[in-house]
Amino acid sequence: MSNKIRYYSTNGKLEPTDEIIPFSGTVSFREALLMGQAPDEGLFMPDRIPTLSREAIATLRGQPYGEAARLVMDAFLAGDISRAKLNTCIRDAYNFNVPLEKVDTGKYIMRLDQGPTASFKDFAARMMARLMGLLKGYTTRLNVLVATSGDTGSAVGDAYKGVKGINVTILYPREEVSGRQKKQLDTIGENVQAISVAGQFDDCQNLVKQAFADRSLRRFNLTSANSINFGRILPQIIYYVYAYAQLAAPGEEIVFSIPSGNFGNALGCEYARRMGLPVNKLVMPVNENDEFPHFLETGRYEKISPSRACLSNAMNVGHPSNLARFFDLYGGTVDRNGRVHIHPDRQAMREHIFSVSVSDRETRETIKTVYDRYGVVLEPHGAVGWRGLEAYLEAMGDNALCVSLETAHPAKFPEAIESTIGIQPELPQSMKDLEKKTGEPILMDNSYEAFRTYLLSCM
Ligand SMILES: *Cc1c(COP(=O)(O)O)cnc(C)c1O
Repeated sequence: MSNKIRYYSTNGKLEPTDEIIPFSGTVSFREALLMGQAPDEGLFMPDRIPTLSREAIATLRGQPYGEAARLVMDAFLAGDISRAKLNTCIRDAYNFNVPLEKVDTGKYIMRLDQGPTASFKDFAARMMARLMGLLKGYTTRLNVLVATSGDTGSAVGDAYKGVKGINVTILYPREEVSGRQKKQLDTIGENVQAISVAGQFDDCQNLVKQAFADRSLRRFNLTSANSINFGRILPQIIYYVYAYAQLAAPGEEIVFSIPSGNFGNALGCEYARRMGLPVNKLVMPVNENDEFPHFLETGRYEKISPSRACLSNAMNVGHPSNLARFFDLYGGTVDRNGRVHIHPDRQAMREHIFSVSVSDRETRETIKTVYDRYGVVLEPHGAVGWRGLEAYLEAMGDNALCVSLETAHPAKFPEAIESTIGIQPELPQSMKDLEKKTGEPILMDNSYEAFRTYLLSCM
């Protein structure tokens, strides 16, 4: 079918250099999903963005989350995946709640923390795992490698658990994950194996990169599941459409505030707006890693290296991997090293996007004031989101309907919450069940030879 969406690389239009040989072709959704990254190390982008009519969005009101998922996924994947198969994926993936909590007049919090690993990453990882299982073909075995500092590994591991024909290996830094995170990673079981590496997160990432570059491992079909994969962006469009349909009158404008690190979550909102959702402003607060608000203000982009360690640790990112996609959507190009080749239309960006840096001190203050004023418990990432929304409203005096995202469950950050407001957040059921689970990681030195020997022995 000629109207299927194709995927091009964000580096595709560059002049060739010693480092980058641009990939100027396009691939299908299946290829983009299984390859993860374009051959020129750019990110895959859809060559067309489908639109949703006002009527179609309005029919979602009062309907379960799966209906919004069907509308969005089908708009992108019609012709690639049948509706029946898509429905099965959606039913399997989204079996938990998506609460919209009213905090104040016209101001809501969307809790994306009710999935099995209690972070918003469950939404994308669970859908991507099912799409990969479906599209890889019956004869191919895939091996997913993930390096993690915590949240991504457990969301991805849990999402792929039991998916036939796909094995998952998770590498984590032995001394850098919390006790609870370690338990989450070690006990997934079945086709998912954790490796505890005597090294740091960067070492884990390097081991994975070396494996991808190792020609002698080609036959094992190694692939990645991090947020450079478009398969993880697509499902992150859905909850914006869902929230809008539940809360807004047809055509009414809305503001979303999205605490941001690698910008994958915010990118979902940017696509939702381009699909026709009346998003008046995309608020993208970051922690003390302020390279993006600095760029919006000055036009100069300087990545922060090493990144700054903040309370909202899943957002400690000094050069967001999905910035390349934002630049591309606004006519620019930035590569994975943070070098700007073509400047984007910064005026247009500022028209649609508001970004601000929120310090750790402000994050704690926000946890406290939101609890004192509204009785609502936020964890550090959600607090950055809420504070960013307040900063936007103070600067712009907008009266639009506002939704701020809570991206993790407060029980994942008990120390920050107890030391700020003196309460212990109640564990969600998935985390209570963790205590009973068993499983051991494989212990490994920080050595590529050791990792390679392990891969050869088990594949
Ligand atoms: C990953 C993560 C974020 C940042 O999301 P990006 O898509 O990388 O911007 C925010 N909050 C939590 C809890 C996360 O795990």
